[in-house]
Amino acid sequence: MGFVCGMVLVAAAVPSYAEDKADLILRHGGFYTVQPAGRVEGSLAVREGRIVYLGTDAGADALRGPETRVVELGGRMVTPGLIDAHSHLAGLGGALEQVDLSGAATFEELVRRVRAAAGRVPAGTWVQGRGWDQNLWPGKQFPVHDALSAAVPDHPVWMTRVDGHAALVNARAMQILGIAAGIQDPPGGRFLRDAQGRPTGVLVDNAMDAVASKLPPPSQEDLQRRLRIAARHCLERGLTTVTDMGVGAAEHQAYTALRRAGELPLRAALFLADDAALLDEWFRRGPEIDPKARLQVRGVKLYADGALGSRGAALVEPYSDDPANMGLLVATGAHLQEVAQRAATTGFQVAIHAIGDRGGIVALDAMEKAMGGAKPELRFRLEHAQVLRVQDIERLARLGIIASMQPTHATSDMPWAGDRLGEGRLERAYAWRKVLSAGGRLALGSDFPVEQADPRLGLYAAVTRQDLQGRPAGGWLPGEKLTREEALRGFTLDAAWSLFLEKEVGSIEVGKRADLLVFARDWMTLPESEIPQAEIDLTLVDGQVVYDRTGKEKPR
Ligand SMILES: [Zn+2]
Repeated sequence: MGFVCGMVLVAAAVPSYAEDKADLILRHGGFYTVQPAGRVEGSLAVREGRIVYLGTDAGADALRGPETRVVELGGRMVTPGLIDAHSHLAGLGGALEQVDLSGAATFEELVRRVRAAAGRVPAGTWVQGRGWDQNLWPGKQFPVHDALSAAVPDHPVWMTRVDGHAALVNARAMQILGIAAGIQDPPGGRFLRDAQGRPTGVLVDNAMDAVASKLPPPSQEDLQRRLRIAARHCLERGLTTVTDMGVGAAEHQAYTALRRAGELPLRAALFLADDAALLDEWFRRGPEIDPKARLQVRGVKLYADGALGSRGAALVEPYSDDPANMGLLVATGAHLQEVAQRAATTGFQVAIHAIGDRGGIVALDAMEKAMGGAKPELRFRLEHAQVLRVQDIERLARLGIIASMQPTHATSDMPWAGDRLGEGRLERAYAWRKVLSAGGRLALGSDFPVEQADPRLGLYAAVTRQDLQGRPAGGWLPGEKLTREEALRGFTLDAAWSLFLEKEVGSIEVGKRADLLVFARDWMTLPESEIPQAEIDLTLVDGQVVYDRTGKEKPR
């Protein structure tokens, strides 16, 4: 053993190492390494996209050559690039493209926003949005499409009302959807009409469903554009690796096209949707592993139950605010087990959505049977895990199943979660600390676009369990707070582990890929309330600057 160590030291000291100069040096900063945990003052060097040195400034200076690019950090903080262990990148792109009509105070304002959005995409592309509310407008009348159709003649438009129970479409959309004077109202729905009986463009309830099937699925061009927009959005917020939970063949095709064109600027780990034909094909083919770790397909997303807000999460005891309701299982344990077994034998992991404690039992039973004992190397994951029985928290840890949890779900749900669950059950809800105390592993994420993609909001929620206004004082169920170091680990190395990427990214160590963030301020030492505003100056993926807030380090 001593001999091997000696060899390594000798190898590190020979001149040939230094002769290969660094491509990039991040000079004189504070590096939060994650593994081993702590902060290293000094400099970091990158060659061919990987970290080759972390140590003193002088040591890094020795690797400086005429071609070396040097970024002077002036003591700024550096962390590994952040990883969202449960997210929907394509969905985020779709959501970002949706026109936000919330707060529009007049119909004219709605038209203005829709026209601006239409101007950003080619004619003929569907423009969709949400959030209008005629109760905010003078007169409070439902709109009539004419002014909208005049302002946006060449793009079909579909704008959902704030409550989702009505939609406004323009003339181009009515043409495509076959909405004309003669159209019949479906049961439970209405096409609103003017005095002459012509449709006004407002579709109420089932009238929306009656024509929604004619809305085109997104094209490859749409999907690729959405992925580009979403990737950029993530990089600006410090995410260098994201996930897409529950994709089909069309999304995979769009990712592959971007990857081949060199237009996937971050890492994406795709989890396949639970579709029989899709899974048959992939289980035959085997996982897709990228030597450059940009795009991989080696997971399957399954569902055990629904969500807590709509009382669809399956509980062992009835809902505290709905005593006849115990929620809903959406798959049988046998199905989950069968898919998990096939996944395990073909090199895939499973990620099972389970929000209620009964959902958790079914999901853990299925994974335990499929694994036949503790098999952390399979990286099986329980998604959300919002309520678990204490014995299931222990079981999860014992089996090496990863708890994939979203800190901002807790702070979004805290106003009503107690109504659903009642005092006693709340004790074991959103219980990050209990998972860690049991010896479990936490992979953190946001579930964007359900929550905002910004991981700083997740870090803040994890350490405070407060909303952005600092409520409640002291934090909600404060015993479950994470330390900043634990939260960082959950958004880096343990998230990487949950994606089989821990050898590539997730910490600042020699040999790892240089996915790094330079922060303007050290959020490890800022007051907690300032964590969400900690500015990201630079985002690097594989040692390349992919986002530069200051504009000073423009990619060469
Ligand atoms: Zn999700």
